[in-house]
Amino acid sequence: MGAIGASVIMGSNITEANQPIPAGPTPQRDALWQLSRHTGNVYQAISQKVLQTPFIDTHEHLIEERERLTGASHPRVNSDDWTLLLSHYLNSDMLVAGMPQESYDRFFSPKTDPIDKWALLEPYWPAVKNTGYGQAVQIALNQLYEVDKLSAKTVKKVQDGYEKTRRQGFYKHILCDLANIESCQVNSLSRPFNESDMPTLLMQDISIVGMFVGPDLEGFGKPTGIQVKSLTDWHRVIDWWFDKYGKYAVAVKSQNAYSRDINYDQVPADKAEPVFRKRLDNGQLSSDERKTLEDHLFWYAVEKATEYNLPIKLHTGYYAGENRMPLARLINNPCSATELCRKAPKTRFVFMHIAYPYYEEMIALAKQYTNAYIDMCWSWIINPVAAKDFLKKYLVTAPANKILTFGGDYIPVEPVLGHATVARRGIVLALSELVEEEWLSLDDAIEMTDLIMHQNARKIFNLTEKTKLLKDVKWT
Ligand SMILES: [Zn+2]
Repeated sequence: MGAIGASVIMGSNITEANQPIPAGPTPQRDALWQLSRHTGNVYQAISQKVLQTPFIDTHEHLIEERERLTGASHPRVNSDDWTLLLSHYLNSDMLVAGMPQESYDRFFSPKTDPIDKWALLEPYWPAVKNTGYGQAVQIALNQLYEVDKLSAKTVKKVQDGYEKTRRQGFYKHILCDLANIESCQVNSLSRPFNESDMPTLLMQDISIVGMFVGPDLEGFGKPTGIQVKSLTDWHRVIDWWFDKYGKYAVAVKSQNAYSRDINYDQVPADKAEPVFRKRLDNGQLSSDERKTLEDHLFWYAVEKATEYNLPIKLHTGYYAGENRMPLARLINNPCSATELCRKAPKTRFVFMHIAYPYYEEMIALAKQYTNAYIDMCWSWIINPVAAKDFLKKYLVTAPANKILTFGGDYIPVEPVLGHATVARRGIVLALSELVEEEWLSLDDAIEMTDLIMHQNARKIFNLTEKTKLLKDVKWT
């Protein structure tokens, strides 16, 4: 289909965005790959293998490309300019480094000229550019716009690059051609399940959090057309989502650990029923009542997902954002994870983000429980050195078929490229060090690369079968 036809169908009204990006790989700019002290054969062999090996990206929040091409009308796009690359994650480091709220608001405002935005960032840039969040952005600027250093001199080139890149076909170009990603798994932040325009590239999780927190009568209940008058009706609502999307989804996802620990008790329906009725009558629930209801519905959704052979992805550890994370709660996540695995041995749990900073405990969890999987998504940019340390230790401790090594975890697509580069660098270092320290043979390290970068994901999420189904899907 021609570019114009495609854009009409996709509802884009941005004319300069209508020129498709030429297909085919563009050589990666490799300046950031030069780690000068690493010239040995082991490092060379492993880095070559890791660069060539595609990732399956097991966690993103990407909005649809079509939504990006409509500019700042999407609630997740503050400002359709280069600052969008800094708007997810690095924005938190900027505030924590001391940027005043007023400057921050102007920086991300669509009303500020994109070129003038540099002056607002400049005082804080030296403090944030080398964090994992900062590195992912710097690498994206380098690989996408050929800008080595963000500055007053280069900001115009960055903005021009942003506009030239953001056009029809840029998701596939960035994810597949540049980042060498085979497919992504998207947890939509705007709907329980997103019917993607690119269903085999942007595979989807079913978001279950609204099934048990609240629960979200409007967002989950309304689309089903079911009149909810009892707990049994709500069970039917949950069933409806699985019946409709269970076979297309790759997993289910909950980020409920942002508001409580993942210590879910198996509460029977008769105990939850009166609480649910009180909720329907708009009664104020006590925190104990809320936990009773959430716990019951969590397990209802988890059992349903298990019936559909879908793994349960749970947020653990570090919180996105700033000035609110209670470490006293997070420290319990690994202990609660062991309880979940023990209570539901047939359910596969994917614990995300290595429960940073409590990652040593997560290695113990994966080593002990058959049904515990660890996903390193997001961890490479929270703390790249800790993520490398985790991977090194994991690979000589727990079975290598239960680890997933990459998820960009981004809303904008551009910094996924930076994150993938940071992750590849970390994997190369972890494997090379294991070989140089003689814990692993070079052959075994090379063999492991395929497992940890894509083969595990393919198996855990049944991707061969899902791809076949999604190839011909017609959303209704
Ligand atoms: Zn996420």
